[in-house]
Amino acid sequence: MRILFCSSEAFPFSKTGGLADMALFLPKSLKQLKHDVRIITPYYSQISKYHQEMKFLGSSTIQMGGLDTIVNYYELIYQDIPYIFVQNMHYFERDQLYGYNDDAERFACFSYAILEGLKIFDFYPQILHLNDWQTGMVPFLLDEHYRHRNDSYYSIHTLLTIHNLEYQGSFDPYVSRFFNVNFNYTYIHFERVNFLKAGIERATKINTVSPTYRNEILTGEYGFTLDGALSNRQHDLVGILNGIDAHVFDPKTDPLLFANYDSTGVKDGKLKNKEGILHQFDLDVDLKEPLIAYVGRLATQKGINLMTDILEEVIYHSNARFILMGSGNDAYQDYFRYLTYKYPKRVANYIGFNEKVAHQIYAASDLFMMPSRFEPCGLGQMIAMAYGSLPIVRETGGLKDTVKPFNQFTGEGTGFSFSNFSSYELKEKLFEGIYLYKNKKRQWNKLVKQAMEQDFSLEKMALAYEQLYQTIIGV
Ligand code: ADP
Repeated sequence: MRILFCSSEAFPFSKTGGLADMALFLPKSLKQLKHDVRIITPYYSQISKYHQEMKFLGSSTIQMGGLDTIVNYYELIYQDIPYIFVQNMHYFERDQLYGYNDDAERFACFSYAILEGLKIFDFYPQILHLNDWQTGMVPFLLDEHYRHRNDSYYSIHTLLTIHNLEYQGSFDPYVSRFFNVNFNYTYIHFERVNFLKAGIERATKINTVSPTYRNEILTGEYGFTLDGALSNRQHDLVGILNGIDAHVFDPKTDPLLFANYDSTGVKDGKLKNKEGILHQFDLDVDLKEPLIAYVGRLATQKGINLMTDILEEVIYHSNARFILMGSGNDAYQDYFRYLTYKYPKRVANYIGFNEKVAHQIYAASDLFMMPSRFEPCGLGQMIAMAYGSLPIVRETGGLKDTVKPFNQFTGEGTGFSFSNFSSYELKEKLFEGIYLYKNKKRQWNKLVKQAMEQDFSLEKMALAYEQLYQTIIGV
């Protein structure tokens, strides 16, 4: 099959979250299944360091709402996959990926550039695989402006993957001018232009990144006002669990760790990593005490307020260490700085993004918190399990689909979970984890082994997408 994976971020060139990882992992695994897959993504400023390795493919003029702008296409082969970068200095060469006043215009331009580009690089995919709101307008633009042009455009099918329904690309109605059509209800939602809604209405099929989240978004509680639009298309909506790259996230070979280990030598291996990271963060080194960690965005979605409600109590009443890594909301950042200030030898924070330190934290920690309010899939908990750090999660979305809660009677489980969005329940699970770590070593070690043996492989994920593509094109 010919597949063009369209993503506003792609690891290792640009990344703000899980979508970037997926933009490398899925195409790579599809390639192993012998599909002809390419990635198209914007050329952000930081990508210029790869410029020497790129090949110029051509240019096209994008016309949107009376604005004409030129985009250049460059290709770079990375890990055997062709990456096509869409270059437009005005729109994409900025410090950040998103968050600008003209984001609607920027990603309208990217969406046109995808469709215009097909004839430039003469690659008409059977599946245009779109991701999130940034490419949500593509099916609409395809229908309105491209399908009638020739058979190659006519027979393109689209799949829209929703990685996070909270971010919808909702803009002032004047934005509709960029689509070169009169006002159209496909993309209007509560009197605003909504890129994601357009994708939901027009894509051939839609999927989210876990089966539980697929069901949750049909409800008012998790639907972020799009539950109606999604319910109308529920027969075309599926849930496919993300996977993680077993080669990148393998404590046995990970070059970023203080020491490598596998499930047979996990105890010693983790202790060495714990020692390393505690030193690195200038914390008291006491290897008998559990290390609790969080790595991820400091956003409301992640249930950070549950942590800020109870962490101090947990730190006060235990001897656990806690390391937080992430950035985002200022108030949350300030809280973790405060906690570090108050417990300088037991609490540390790293406000920022750092791949290496993140890996080290996964390997060193014993408990990994993810009490999300909602979680489309979540990679953090899967990575934690791969490194033998037991996740404490709320039973929602992908967290529910991936973490088997500890059962004290049977010894089953790969982590701890609670159901209500309650700081009290999170606190209970933290104390349960700390207790088990310190007092029930046999049970603890068994859980760690079970967690490390979980299969969240990309192969499994790629096979599920392959099957979905086949359904879409009717093979
Ligand atoms: P989301 O996509 O909602 O941000 P996920 O759990 O799906 O959350 O994916 C987040 C990914 O980004 C994980 O691979 C996580 O390890 C990584 N990550 C998040 N914050 C940081 C950080 N500050 N430094 C390094 N890696 C991070």
